[in-house]
Amino acid sequence: MTRSSLYSAGAAAARTPQFRQRLGDLIAYQTDATDPASAPQLAAFLSHVTGWLTALGFTCDVHDCEGHSFLVAKRHEGADLPTILSYSHGDVVPGMAGRWRDGLDPWALTEVGDDWFGRGIADNKGQFLVNLTALETVLAQRGSLGANVTWLIEMGEEVGSPGLAEFCNHNRALLDADLLLASDGPRMDAGRPTVFLGARGAATFRLDLEHRIAGRHSGNFGGALRNPALEMAHALACITDRSGALQIAEWTPGTIPDATREALTGLTPAGGAIDADWGAEGLTPAERIHAWSSAEVLAMHAGDPPAPVNAIPPRASAWVQLRFAPGTKAAGLAEALRKHLDIHGFTDIKITQEGPSFAASQTPVGHPAAQFVTQAITEGTGTAPVVLPSLGGSLPNDIFRDGLGLPTVWVPHSFPGCSQHAPDEHLPKRLLQDATGVMSVVLGALAGTRPEDLR
Ligand SMILES: [Zn+2]
Repeated sequence: MTRSSLYSAGAAAARTPQFRQRLGDLIAYQTDATDPASAPQLAAFLSHVTGWLTALGFTCDVHDCEGHSFLVAKRHEGADLPTILSYSHGDVVPGMAGRWRDGLDPWALTEVGDDWFGRGIADNKGQFLVNLTALETVLAQRGSLGANVTWLIEMGEEVGSPGLAEFCNHNRALLDADLLLASDGPRMDAGRPTVFLGARGAATFRLDLEHRIAGRHSGNFGGALRNPALEMAHALACITDRSGALQIAEWTPGTIPDATREALTGLTPAGGAIDADWGAEGLTPAERIHAWSSAEVLAMHAGDPPAPVNAIPPRASAWVQLRFAPGTKAAGLAEALRKHLDIHGFTDIKITQEGPSFAASQTPVGHPAAQFVTQAITEGTGTAPVVLPSLGGSLPNDIFRDGLGLPTVWVPHSFPGCSQHAPDEHLPKRLLQDATGVMSVVLGALAGTRPEDLR
């Protein structure tokens, strides 16, 4: 099979000086969602993209929900045509200036070799621009899309999407669609177009064990006093086995559906940077990441690591994060951990659920909407995309899948080595071009599609 002319036109559009200029414009807004002082930047970003969307025929409104801004842009072609809901986020994590290679400015688009660097290029500003450029490409070639588009842009994804669920719930008619088609997260690897249909959930638990107010001399008391650091280590060790396989049955989906297994057959996580002997027994690495749950110790604390003293520390703390696969029951995760620690004798460890949590959700692999996107990419590029039932990471997919009741299909335009959430966030120019081609063929396939074909 050969690539379609829409693919070539999309890829070419991402090679223009205008594309680069626009990407630089987006990156220059310091939309760090964790910094309250960036509020004017968040608003400025939204008004900037409102200009672009308006020029493409969208009607744009910024809505406020519980103090958070949501841009809803609507482009209507006909009542009988399918409607896609797209979603992007314009906020980013902190710039981390001073920690980038060669002193690169996180808020400036910089070209280094074949890559473009800048905060948000992968997550999510570059992905937004790819989709906007793809839509522009289809409209330039054909004059119309053959579908209606509603584009929802939030500015708080990096702090857990505050207000997003409420906003969607209160605006069901406004956001009504046949399909969520959006882009975030990484491809399986840079050169392979990827589709994913859901996301793992995430929940973080802080464990605390305190035996006394102050440390006690390790010589005078050692051997006759309980050591919270040792006990915490034993408690953490009972959450998985020696190979990292979860020992809390309620934290796993229990089984992997056949269609999910089939979709993951033959897939290896990118870069080879995985430990094949780590994780749930009997599963492939791809199944462990995309169809099973995992627990990680994110941090642990006892004593004073920079300057250890000869004392039994009085207390120990650890932060355990669960990533749970679709199919895992979201209710009762903390209770299951409590029960497990109690059974193993750790009744005095206090458990607190901390930080933002995400639900797990997924559109079935065989859903017509998933097949539509997969087939469009196959026909438009000449190669079938990788189909991941679920992203290993977490996204607010449940708000669209369970909240709005839409089939959810994500076409990610980043790659595993992009350094999102770290210094040196970057994307290869070639990936941006390929992604714009891929998205152009997906949007191009909407013409002639009926709403019922997607349900
Ligand atoms: Zn992010």
